[in-house]
Amino acid sequence: MVERKNIEIKARKIEEKKLAEAVCNDIKCPFHGKLKTRGRIFEGRVIKKLPKRIVIEFERMIYIKKYERYMKGRTKIHARLPDCMEKEIAVGDLIKVQECRPLSKIIHFAVIKKIKSGGEKE
Ligand SMILES: [Zn+2]
Repeated sequence: MVERKNIEIKARKIEEKKLAEAVCNDIKCPFHGKLKTRGRIFEGRVIKKLPKRIVIEFERMIYIKKYERYMKGRTKIHARLPDCMEKEIAVGDLIKVQECRPLSKIIHFAVIKKIKSGGEKE
């Protein structure tokens, strides 16, 4: 009997998950909406979370012509966070963003994938 109940609970959870995915009414979602992503792809850590937006940061090498050497620099990117990924992504996570059309003055990227959770400390 207990097992049967567990199966029922599992089935209900799957249904709920499907419902939650279907609920994504975000027009500017790259998977369920009309937003097309194209262009450059970057990976970075989430440093800030705002409503429908996240800020990621990553390190890159910047060439300094005068000294003919590279300098380590940091780049920040504001990216659109679709409704369906809002719960999944937290500050500290490693995520992937792709370029899209400019959604606002500073947002021209959208979150496409979560690579690693930041909560996993080793
Ligand atoms: Zn979505």
